[in-house]
Amino acid sequence: QCAPRSHLLSALLLLRCVIVGNKMATSASATLSKAVKQQYMELSQGDKVQAMYIWIDGTGEGLRCKTRTLDFEPKSIEDLPEWNFDGSSTYQCEGSNSDMYLIPAAMFRDPFRKDPNKLVLCEVLKYNRKPAETNLRLTCSKVMTMVEDQHPWFGMEQEYTILGTDGHPFGWPSNGFPGPQGPYYCGVGADKAYGRDIVEAHYRACLYAGVDICGTNAEVMPAQWEFQVGPCEGINMGDHLWVARFILHRVCEDFGVVASFDPKPITGNWNGAGCHTNFSTKEMREEGGLKAIEDSIEKLGKRHSYHIRSYDPKGGLDNARRLTGHHETSNINEFSAGVANRGASIRIPRNVGQEKKGYFEDRRPSANCDPYSVTEALIRTCLLNEEGDEPTDY
Ligand code: ADP
Ligand code: MN
Ligand code: MN
Ligand code: MN
Repeated sequence: QCAPRSHLLSALLLLRCVIVGNKMATSASATLSKAVKQQYMELSQGDKVQAMYIWIDGTGEGLRCKTRTLDFEPKSIEDLPEWNFDGSSTYQCEGSNSDMYLIPAAMFRDPFRKDPNKLVLCEVLKYNRKPAETNLRLTCSKVMTMVEDQHPWFGMEQEYTILGTDGHPFGWPSNGFPGPQGPYYCGVGADKAYGRDIVEAHYRACLYAGVDICGTNAEVMPAQWEFQVGPCEGINMGDHLWVARFILHRVCEDFGVVASFDPKPITGNWNGAGCHTNFSTKEMREEGGLKAIEDSIEKLGKRHSYHIRSYDPKGGLDNARRLTGHHETSNINEFSAGVANRGASIRIPRNVGQEKKGYFEDRRPSANCDPYSVTEALIRTCLLNEEGDEPTDY
């Protein structure tokens, strides 16, 4: 009696799967003809230069940008004019006092509009010229200047997940999951590497721009990838990573997909996304540097909660979803360190343990961390010998 009805239901369900499954979750602008656009991009721009100013918005994660024409080619950051924007539209201030200042901080070649055009990473100041709440670059650069003579180097491993505009991981079946983790990390082949076009385009664009990108790999979860930036000295780490993130968002926009830095995009038996931060000083890199590495790790062990607070934009709440003690992470409530241990807070790479010099890796920062906050915290604890829960005022 019920059979015909249930057959009809299954048929309808199947039809829905076919329709939804074939519809690419992409953006409207990605479907515009790139060939037609190219015709305009080939026009001469005369003696003008386009400078795209980039800044971090009030979420501490989002990036914003706008462009102005310059009638000269800037050769250094000093040549670039200050600018402003409406902070009430970027979660950065009230409408009544909404002009915020953009202060050029680092300049790169523009891989989208190409030479002589520029990408200009900016600091944001409020109407009273004090740093905006999410401008963490100012204190970071102050601290970096204090330890200049120790030549601190950083390398950050940025993990991210490619999503459709519907928030579903790119390439995943629309009504289910891909096969379990195992074949995807550093994988090759259409059934293992989801979205390599994005990775290749981003890598080349970073090289063109002058970002110190040093590698990429496919990650453990399908549609999850990593790129590494570094080694960068001092404040350059934050500058280069933020611009690399901007370029990734911009590349994804062209392809009609979205890059997510959420530290745990899919709950359950799927790896999260971190931003492992590798750190060394001149002393650590020289003969017998392991001693200095061990000293730093001891200091870090006494300041775990301060670091957890500095390692994601929500003071640890984002990382609480990721640092479970499973999936190659440590537990958020415990500090641990070890040679070649990927389940520890701090890992000493095996070759560093053998050569007794080099660097160490802090595995705690979340994929959506602010690199200015992470690198500043490392300097304060390891080199400025700060203790306790609060940063010192200098
Ligand atoms: P992992 O084995 O953890 O996946 P990766 O190869 O992905 O390591 O990343 C290594 C990172 O370490 C890179 O960002 C690189 O720039 C950085 N790095 C290498 N040497 C140093 C150093 N001496 N000091 C700081 N960072 C370094
Ligand atoms: Mn890595
Ligand atoms: Mn990784
Ligand atoms: Mn790592």
